Amino acid sequence: MSSYPELRLLIGGSWRPGRAGQPVVNPADESTLGLLPHAGPADLADALAAAEAGLKVWRRTAPAERARIILRAAALLRERVDDAALAMTLEQGKPIGQSRLEVLRACDIIEWDANEGRRLYGRVIPAEPGMRHTVLREPIGVVAAFSPWNFPVSSPARKVAGALSAGCSIILKASEETPAGAVQLAQAFVDAGLPPGVLNLVFGDPAEISSFLIAQPAVRLVTFTGSVPVGKHLAELAGRHMKPAIMELGGHGPVIVCDDVDPEATAVASVLSKTRNAGQVCVAPTRFFVHDRIYDRFVAAAGARAAALRVGDGRDEATELGPLANPRRLAAMESLVADALARGARLVAGGERIGTKGYYFPLTVLADMPDDARAMNEEPFGPLMLIQRVRSLEEAIAKANALPFGLAAYAFTESAANVAALSDEVACGNLSINHFVASIAETPFGGVKDSGYGREGGTEGLTEYTVVKCVSHRTPVPRA
Ligand code: NAD
Repeated sequence: MSSYPELRLLIGGSWRPGRAGQPVVNPADESTLGLLPHAGPADLADALAAAEAGLKVWRRTAPAERARIILRAAALLRERVDDAALAMTLEQGKPIGQSRLEVLRACDIIEWDANEGRRLYGRVIPAEPGMRHTVLREPIGVVAAFSPWNFPVSSPARKVAGALSAGCSIILKASEETPAGAVQLAQAFVDAGLPPGVLNLVFGDPAEISSFLIAQPAVRLVTFTGSVPVGKHLAELAGRHMKPAIMELGGHGPVIVCDDVDPEATAVASVLSKTRNAGQVCVAPTRFFVHDRIYDRFVAAAGARAAALRVGDGRDEATELGPLANPRRLAAMESLVADALARGARLVAGGERIGTKGYYFPLTVLADMPDDARAMNEEPFGPLMLIQRVRSLEEAIAKANALPFGLAAYAFTESAANVAALSDEVACGNLSINHFVASIAETPFGGVKDSGYGREGGTEGLTEYTVVKCVSHRTPVPRA
């Protein structure tokens, strides 16, 4: 298919075919889009050598020149937004409008990081005459990055932009299921004139690649976005080799809806937010704790809007909810819904797979969710909207904090006192009040508890790619 790019590995500035791996499947119709190339041991050794050579060049490139090249890559990606979006919809399933927004959001991130990379200031610490203490922020070194299938362009972009803007080189292992996004991102950097070896892209056996790369002395930082179990495994590997790590793991987004908001408008905004990537988002709003006084109106409006959603192939501009990305998610939705209903939840909309070809599952609204339903405790990572009745803000906050996750949380209220309590008490990395945007390029994003550590985005995210060195310099004391 001409709109789907050729899949290759990028090592030392050259594209290479790698070994034949598994087919990449379109979740809308289960057709094959391409064949994934796998990196073998020799490819990985070459990628490491290339990244070490690239680091030597890049860390000595002036920050302003680095920024120029990175900004050029972002501009090229902006020009190619339609091609990149179509490839993303084909391999991942999300509606084409969402794919376009993701590519543009990736460009925002790349541009912000590129400019902020020129402002990675150090400090001079006041000292006695004849002494100067200078704190320098240096690029941390070669970065090993692992990105997931749900955001094929923006998740790799965050890692690549952070590393490159701080003066690091990077080996990116992008998702085997949605590889085209990373290929197109990397192509933009190649075309922008990035020196060879600064950005390397591999695919293959994830466990083989991570265990090889993380053990290498030259690799100085690990960054991973994905599930909690894999994150814990990679964090252990990083710890064994004394590497810092950025871990962006799962969430179970609580949404606290207070009794002073419009229940219908909030319910409709909630459903539309839940359609984003069919709920396969680590910051997806999932557990809705709605005040008793507006509960019934909220549930009815959510059910009506969910039932009216246009479900279909993401290439159709009219589609509001695309297919799930893979059959694992479909099986997970079926099992979580069956479990919730068996435990007494009330089905308000959706509930069953649509058709037999393509991985379609409707946005499913479940009310009166029991605490012990599996979906209330495991990250559903799909289009499930789970609603519970609460009678006070305190009860809602306690429920929001009850799980081992703490990534994004949301609240709807007009009361300053409620906002103060929510800001103080909700255990999460990102709290959004009266809207559903968890992060933008200039704000730090990340989790607490099992949702991980480290930040991506904002100044905080960029400094993760640096290491601090303090230089103390004694000089003769000038005569008075
Ligand atoms: P999974 O746990 O099998 O894989 C998750 C990702 O980790 C994949 O991209 C895989 O290639 C990678 N991976 C697995 N083992 C690895 C290893 N040893 N080294 C390096 N990478 C490795 O799960 P899945 O079926 O793909 O997704 C299921 C769950 O993952 C979801 O329910 C969700 O909780 C989570 N997830 C989270 C995010 C996120 O944005 N935080 C993204 C995708 C998936």
